[in-house]
Amino acid sequence: MSNSAAVDPRDFIRDVADFPKPGIVFKDITPLLADPRAFQATIDRLAEGLGGLGIDAIVGPEARGFLFAAPLALRLELPFVPIRKPGKLPSKTFSHEYQLEYGSDRLEIHQDALSEGSNVAVVDDVLATGGTVRACCDLITKVGAKVAACGFAIELSFLNGREILKPHRIVSVITY
Ligand code: AMP
Repeated sequence: MSNSAAVDPRDFIRDVADFPKPGIVFKDITPLLADPRAFQATIDRLAEGLGGLGIDAIVGPEARGFLFAAPLALRLELPFVPIRKPGKLPSKTFSHEYQLEYGSDRLEIHQDALSEGSNVAVVDDVLATGGTVRACCDLITKVGAKVAACGFAIELSFLNGREILKPHRIVSVITY
């Protein structure tokens, strides 16, 4: 058993009240990232939940999604594929616009990032309303790949983000 099994990642999440605006309790992951055992335990648990699903690649959205998706891809010996904000990816992209509470946003993926019919897992830091990862799933479908599961370090279950990610399998390490 690795040393990381002895730590609880939940103990390394810091609540920051009223960030980025009044009324929001921000789940700060920086103490977790700063503790190699807690960070490793989080990646290990994501690997346990998502391994064995026949996944061909791990997709992560900019920016905090990269922090979990890239080490998880290495751990599972799978390709890591970034989804980015507009204008950041250098080669030909597919783009997907999605609605926010006020206005809209856009995410992009390289057209050749995933093979047709491949099974992917989307991994992000926090599942809040689910809007970001829903948009990632739509983008993955646009490329011709399939979403096998979605993984999160943290799930804010009271925001019911699972609902808009249905019917995808959800794996979360820490649930509030
Ligand atoms: P979502 O509403 O699921 O689209 O959330 C989008 C992103 O916002 C998540 O991936 C997080 O990076 C971030 N986020 C939303 N709510 C919180 C929160 N309470 N604490 C920390 N990050 C959050």
